[in-house]
Amino acid sequence: MSFLFIFIFSYVQKYEVIFENKSSVIQSEMIEGQDYLPLKPIAELCEINYIFDKVHLRCILSTNEHKITLISDVNILKYDTSYLNIPFPPRIVEEEMYFPALMIGGILGTRLERLIFLKKIEEIPIIEKIDLTIRGDSTVLRFFWKTPVEFDLQFTPQQAIVELDGEYREKAKLKPKGAIKSLNIQPYQTYTRIELTLSDINACMERESEIVFYKKIAKKVELIVLDPGHGGIDPGAVGKNGLYEKDANLDIAKILKKFIEDSLKIRTMLTRDRDQYLSLKSRTNFANRNGADIFISIHCNASPRNRQARGFETYFLSEARTNEERAVAAMENASLVFDEEIKPSGDINFILYDLAQSLFLEESNNLAEAIQTKAEALLNIPARGVSQADFYVLRGAFMPAVLIECAFISNPEEERLLRDRKFKETIAHAIYSGLKDFIAHYERRLNH
Ligand SMILES: [Zn+2]
Repeated sequence: MSFLFIFIFSYVQKYEVIFENKSSVIQSEMIEGQDYLPLKPIAELCEINYIFDKVHLRCILSTNEHKITLISDVNILKYDTSYLNIPFPPRIVEEEMYFPALMIGGILGTRLERLIFLKKIEEIPIIEKIDLTIRGDSTVLRFFWKTPVEFDLQFTPQQAIVELDGEYREKAKLKPKGAIKSLNIQPYQTYTRIELTLSDINACMERESEIVFYKKIAKKVELIVLDPGHGGIDPGAVGKNGLYEKDANLDIAKILKKFIEDSLKIRTMLTRDRDQYLSLKSRTNFANRNGADIFISIHCNASPRNRQARGFETYFLSEARTNEERAVAAMENASLVFDEEIKPSGDINFILYDLAQSLFLEESNNLAEAIQTKAEALLNIPARGVSQADFYVLRGAFMPAVLIECAFISNPEEERLLRDRKFKETIAHAIYSGLKDFIAHYERRLNH
């Protein structure tokens, strides 16, 4: 008989206790945050004598060679003739002695010369319900559960696949709705896979327990989010004469905001309006949450090895083609070291393909071109052209998004210019002019 088969559908914490070629599945009790297991069935399995003394609330475990005495709620055990401190005491539950699962192999097994292995039988979370609902212009795939289930989403404009690490037992079929033309739920024992066919999807966004599919609609540009790079503990690049990139970025963004609002009459928000630290992820999240139509991250470049390097350059998110592009992205992505939420191994090695931005690849490229064209015409520093690289801050942005490197803070002459209000106005004006051209084309195309 297979225990695994029986218990995989049960949702209390269980342990498989293994001794030699035998094993038992034993249910634990949670006591003060620790999993405790009853000693009687474990002793039986491992050929240990078990005597429970109700009167003295103690239990004796013995073999031919050794003897352990445990007293309920006491952090000391007696082993043959000596005494040992133990971090968690044994406890009595329903007239049985319980011991922390964590210490059974190492403390009891070792001393009684029994090799006991414990394996926690993982619970499989349950997806209670899946449904589809229409919310404004969006179609929302919703999940209902008591314990959160992790899921992974892959999509193209025509198709999406969701894989959930949970079990779905509902047999009823779901009717497609809104932007979802067909859906097929495949329940497996340990996970659930949903295949969706989509139509007219502009973007989709993952939330804690839902996926929102946005419909492609002709949309006027109503909100622009400007993101002054770095801030707070993260200074960005620092000039030879002490200018912080974070300060120059903020100044330019503030001037640009004014230009856009005054001349284009488009609402503009800054991800930060003071010297404040923001994680890279929170900047894009801010734009997504507010439903921004355009996202512009403002930075200044640095080339520590080449102090002569200078000029204005605009990036969109795509795989870097040159070492120079890679170096600029690496420098800007270095802000991740300030982000305490990012685990050093996983998140920094991001995948070189961003689903959200891939939907706006063409628009982002066009936006970069429009800004760069104006920079070339209006600035008295070199225009270095449109580049592409893997900028973390542009990842996940559900809108055309670019990153601008306004000038080189590592170049002493440009560092001096970046301190000058007039120069910053010229930069902001060039960006504004490019943006204006882009918006005119963008809206015309959408209304077509
Ligand atoms: Zn920067």
